[in-house]
Amino acid sequence: MSTSENPTLQPRTQAFLKGPQKMLIDGEWAVSENEAVFESIDPGTGKVLTHIPLAGAKDIDKTVLAAQKAFSGTWKSSPPAQRSLLMWKLADLIERDIQIFMELETLDNGKPIGKAEYDVKSTIAHFRYYAGWATKITGSTLPSAENQLVYTKREPLGVVGLIVPWNFPLMMCAWKLAPALACGNCCILKPAEQTSLTALYLGKLIIEAGFPKGVVNIVTGPGDPTGEALVRHPGIHKISFTGSTAVGKNIMQKAAQSNLKSVSLELGGKSPNVIFADAPMDKVSKALHWTSFYNSGQECTLGSRIYIQKEAFQQVVDGLIEETKKLQMDIGLKDPDLGPLISQQQLDRVTKAIKTGNEEGGDLVLGGERFTVPHLQNGYFLEPTIFVHNNDSLQLVQEEIFGPVVVVSAFDSFEEVLARANNSDYGLAAAVWTTDSSKALRFADQMDAGTVWINGYDQFDPAVPFGGFKQSGIGKEMGESALQLYTKEKAVWFNY
Ligand code: NAD
Repeated sequence: MSTSENPTLQPRTQAFLKGPQKMLIDGEWAVSENEAVFESIDPGTGKVLTHIPLAGAKDIDKTVLAAQKAFSGTWKSSPPAQRSLLMWKLADLIERDIQIFMELETLDNGKPIGKAEYDVKSTIAHFRYYAGWATKITGSTLPSAENQLVYTKREPLGVVGLIVPWNFPLMMCAWKLAPALACGNCCILKPAEQTSLTALYLGKLIIEAGFPKGVVNIVTGPGDPTGEALVRHPGIHKISFTGSTAVGKNIMQKAAQSNLKSVSLELGGKSPNVIFADAPMDKVSKALHWTSFYNSGQECTLGSRIYIQKEAFQQVVDGLIEETKKLQMDIGLKDPDLGPLISQQQLDRVTKAIKTGNEEGGDLVLGGERFTVPHLQNGYFLEPTIFVHNNDSLQLVQEEIFGPVVVVSAFDSFEEVLARANNSDYGLAAAVWTTDSSKALRFADQMDAGTVWINGYDQFDPAVPFGGFKQSGIGKEMGESALQLYTKEKAVWFNY
C-alpha cells in the first residue's frame, strides 16, 4: 500500500495527493513551462508521495509580471480593511481544513502529527495577528518650520519573493506571507523542494478566500533554478529568506548584483542552553530532551550546545540520557515523539557530522546510529545522539548539524560560561536556567543572541520579534518589527 492510499487519511487529503500538483500563478493553476516535475518523497517510508512542477526562469518571468500587474492594478490601493478581512477569512479556512494540513505536513515532512497540529495553529494565529496590523500601519508628523508640514508614511515594497525551508513548511510560509500581505505587497512564495504540499494546499484556500488574482503566487522547485531565478529577477523588490547561512550569503550577493533588492535573512544557529547548579531542576528535566531533539533536531533554535555547571553535571546528563531513551520514534501519522529526518541527503549529512565528532575526540554517550527497526528501515530515522566534550573548538561544537545531535560540556563560573556561550559565529537564540534572577538577567544582557529564554525554551508568539544576530540573520520577523521588512518609509515636505 502506498502512503497516499493510507486509510487513516481524510478523503480530501487522499484526493489532493492524487494530484496533479500545479503552481498558483496569476490566480490560475499552472504547470511549468516545459512540464518539468520533481518527486516529493515521504521521509517516513522513502516512497514517492506525488510529483511537483519544477519552475524555471520563464515561469518566474511570467509570475513576476502577474504580481506586478496585481500590485499596480488593485492591491497597492486596496483599503487596508479589505486586506485584513481577506487574511482573517484565510485563517478561518485554514482552521476549517486543519486536519488536511496536519496530514499533508506529516507525510511531506515526516513530523509527528501532534507537532504538525501546533504548526498549523501557529499559522492561523499569524494570519489573525497580522490581519489586525493591516489597518494600523502609520507614519508620523514631524516637527518642522513655520508654514511647513512634514510627515512620513509607510508604503508597500511591491513584489516580494518569499523563500522558505522544509523544517516548519507551512508555519514559515505564514511568518512571511502574513506581514507581507498586511503591508500591501504582492507575493511570490517558494516553498522548499522537499515540502511543497502544504503551501500548494494553502493556494487553494487563498483562491477560496477571494484574494485578487496575482496577489499571492506560489512557485515550486529547488534552489537552482527556481530560487535563483527569483533572487536575480529585476522585477522583484525584496527577498525574504529562511534557510542556511551559506545560501543566505549567496542570496545577499546575487540580490546586490541584480537590482539591489532588499534582503532579510533568518539563518542557522548553534544555540547555547546553559544550566546553572541552582536551576529549577524539575523544569530542566522535563524540558531538556525536547530542547535537544524537538523536530528530530531539525530546528534553527535547537539548544544544541548544552553547558552544565560542574556540581550538577552528572545528575543533569544522566537525566537527559534517561529521558531521551524514552522518546518513541515512528512514522509521523502514528504521532510518536520523533519522526524521521527530511531526506537521505540530510541523514547522510548528519551521519557524517557524527563520524567527524567521533574522530575529533567527542565522547559519544548515546545514539549515533541509524534507527532501523524493520517497519522503518526505508525511512530516514536516526537515533537521538549525545556527545560529551571539553573542547569548544571541535567542529561538532561550532557547526550547525541540523539533526538530533547535542553536545554537552561542564563549566565552573558565570564568566566562563558566558564567554563560551558567545564563542560562536551564530547568534540566533540562547537559554539560561537558574533560580537567581539577577544572574539570569545579567546573562540575558550579555548574551549576543536575538532571543534569550530564561527558565524556558522555544517559546514563540506572533507578537514577539524573532531573528538572529551575527551570522544567524538580518532583520526581525514577527511582531510589529516585521512591518519594517515589508514597507518603505517616505518623507513628504509640504510648504504652505
Ligand atoms: P537551504 O538554505 O538549503 O534552503 C532553504 C530554501 O532556500 C529552500 O526553499 C531552497 O530551495 C532555497 N534555496 C536553496 N538554494 C538557493 C539559492 N541558491 N537561491 C535561492 N534559493 C535557494 O536550507 P534548508 O536546508 O532548507 O533549511 C535548513 C536551514 O534553515 C538551517 O540552517 C536552519 O537553521 C535554517 N532555518 C532558520 C530559521 C530561522 O528562523 N532562523 C528557521 C528555519 C530554518
